[in-house]
Amino acid sequence: MNLILLGPPGAGKGTQAKRLEQRHNLIQLSTGDMLRAAVASGSEIGRKAKEVMDAGHLVPDELIIAMISDRIEQDDCAKGFILDGFPRTTRQAEALDAMLAEKGMKLHSVIEMKVNEDILVDRIIGRYICATCGAGYHDRYLRPKVAGVCDNCGGTEFRRRADDTEDTVRTRLAAYHTQTAPILPYYQGKGVLQAVDGMAGIDEVTDQIEQVLGAA
Ligand code: AMP
Repeated sequence: MNLILLGPPGAGKGTQAKRLEQRHNLIQLSTGDMLRAAVASGSEIGRKAKEVMDAGHLVPDELIIAMISDRIEQDDCAKGFILDGFPRTTRQAEALDAMLAEKGMKLHSVIEMKVNEDILVDRIIGRYICATCGAGYHDRYLRPKVAGVCDNCGGTEFRRRADDTEDTVRTRLAAYHTQTAPILPYYQGKGVLQAVDGMAGIDEVTDQIEQVLGAA
């Protein structure tokens, strides 16, 4: 099963992708995570991407398309994948179709996570993760049970994303509207688009996604 999670930054794509990964034995392919790893490693891709990401703009299509194309050829993707943060432009969506056709793979479902944008800035600027295990927290909505200690692994170091600042979030939301939202009709036309309520609680969103997948 190959899926796409679509929605603006802060909609919960990463959270839900991690859950689906475990429940369905799929691989989460987050282009944002791949780029952050490239930035951290100081690779050429990372050097090219860093400034663009910090400003909240989209990294050039060619770079992203090449990155995903290489990734879905790897053996672990044969069992199925969840694309999180890709495609983000019509060009990327078309390139994905060509890639899948060439590799004899099929897209089963595109799930749009619908959210009220007024709350996104708040959701994003308060979020942080455990530096050891990646568990997600929020300053107001999801604090560790013991302050400063990760519930999941006991880690005591936490990290925030460099691009989770108010100004950058607004630029990222604008990029979603102008460059990413136009791909929704593209998938609607193919009959694979379904929406879930990204404002519901985390478990409820997972249930809605499961229902969509069950019916697909
Ligand atoms: P994300 O973690 O998905 O919010 O992505 C963080 C940043 O990485 C974005 O704001 C973009 O700068 C860049 N990025 C991630 N995925 C893509 C993509 N598919 N196309 C272009 N830029 C991307």
